[in-house]
Amino acid sequence: WSSRDFLWTKKLEDNNKKVFGNHSFRPNQREVINATMSGHDVFVLMPTGGGKSLTYQANIPAAYLSANMEWTEQQEILRELSSDYCKYKLLYVTPEKVAKSDVLLRHLDSTYARESLARIVIDEAHCVSQWGHDFRPDYQGLGILKQKFPNTPVLGLTATATASVKEDVVQALGLVNCIVFRQSFNRPNLCYSVIPKTKKCVEDIDGFIKKNHFDECGIIYCLSRMDCEKVAEKLQECGHKAAFYHGSMDPAQRAFIQKQWSKDEINIICATVAFGMGINKPDVRFVIHHSLPKSIEGYHQECGRAGRDGQHSSCVLYYSYSDYIRVQHMITQGAVEQSPMPSGYKNQLFVNLWNWTILQVEVVKLTGQQFSSSHILEVYRGSLSQFVKKHKHNTLKLHGAGKHLTKSEASRILHHLVVADFLVEDVKKSDIYGSLSSILKVNESKACLLWSGGQKITLRFPSSDNASKLSKSGV
Ligand code: ADP
Repeated sequence: WSSRDFLWTKKLEDNNKKVFGNHSFRPNQREVINATMSGHDVFVLMPTGGGKSLTYQANIPAAYLSANMEWTEQQEILRELSSDYCKYKLLYVTPEKVAKSDVLLRHLDSTYARESLARIVIDEAHCVSQWGHDFRPDYQGLGILKQKFPNTPVLGLTATATASVKEDVVQALGLVNCIVFRQSFNRPNLCYSVIPKTKKCVEDIDGFIKKNHFDECGIIYCLSRMDCEKVAEKLQECGHKAAFYHGSMDPAQRAFIQKQWSKDEINIICATVAFGMGINKPDVRFVIHHSLPKSIEGYHQECGRAGRDGQHSSCVLYYSYSDYIRVQHMITQGAVEQSPMPSGYKNQLFVNLWNWTILQVEVVKLTGQQFSSSHILEVYRGSLSQFVKKHKHNTLKLHGAGKHLTKSEASRILHHLVVADFLVEDVKKSDIYGSLSSILKVNESKACLLWSGGQKITLRFPSSDNASKLSKSGV
């Protein structure tokens, strides 16, 4: 597709220079245009910032239709579209509109009948697939387009799709003998870092931005709406032009914030994942995840919004185990904004350790909440040490409750119980020399959630050995 000459080759070269001011095409751009201009259905997997837009749009009269627009404005565009001398060559439309607007479909019908429906482009095509992390039912309805307009080539584009998502999208859209372009997803201009999250996370973020990206533009992804508001407020106090953005705001408010950000009147947006789809700002210098993202695909796409112009940009992720619990809880409760069960979580092997977790908390209780974590682990794993026998803990009914686990697995559970606040460590001076020792206590108000089933602890065990060990032991 790249070496052959087509009728439009000269015009293509000229337009790339004149309209876009580019010296050359980026990988696959020319190939995609040639394939689609030759009438083929095409599926493109290209990283964010790779230059997908150039393969289907140019400096030509365009309009857009969405349910967020004033009704009169929508009417005006529809009227123009159905006139014989319609001035628009390109119409941007939401999938919701395609599904719901009979007027629009009638217009497309007549354009098709005149053989003037040159191309259908579906950007963010991964949203068509239920296997993807961003499934939207209205996207699936777009399959109707190929049924109604079989002779019009369809171009599907995405920056994120596994092989099965791609297959699913091609099927659902009814693409025929589709040509697939895919390329490396390495983004050398992005620098990734993962940092343990402490209580001073926002101060850290403030320092990071002031040091590395002062007065530059960025996005901070937060887990909840309240987090967005809190983080934005703190950053404002630190002197940044920051604002928040989430699904509870009304559409006009959201559009206003997005516009201010696009025009650099605001530098930093603290947002849930509701922010991002279709964001095209080339100079986003940092994407910070204040909390763990909900799936690896989501993370990739959110980070992908940084550095589209090819300039050096930062992606920073703050990790804490308690955020992991929050994400898990939100997913199981279905409270994740704009996202069904993310495939990253669905497909991974999570082993529910609920029983063992509860048992470990029970051991702390049964032994009277006055022993160290290492003693609790000994009792839990069935040790018969002198110390265990001295306190008759070998006679407890839960002695050895966790005997199937290795020492490191058992202590991992205990560590998580402490990080997530189910158990608390009470640190004391243990002797006259002032050396410190700690005893474990149960945080009753939190731990009762474990018994009620209101909160579960789940851990991922990497090896299949462990998985079979767990199933043998009936967990
Ligand atoms: P995508 O849609 O794949 O995320 P865009 O189409 O927004 O990426 O392009 C990202 C940036 O790259 C834009 O700033 C665009 O102007 C620039 N760009 C695209 N194609 C080229 C090219 N051939 N040469 C130079 N810059 C390009």
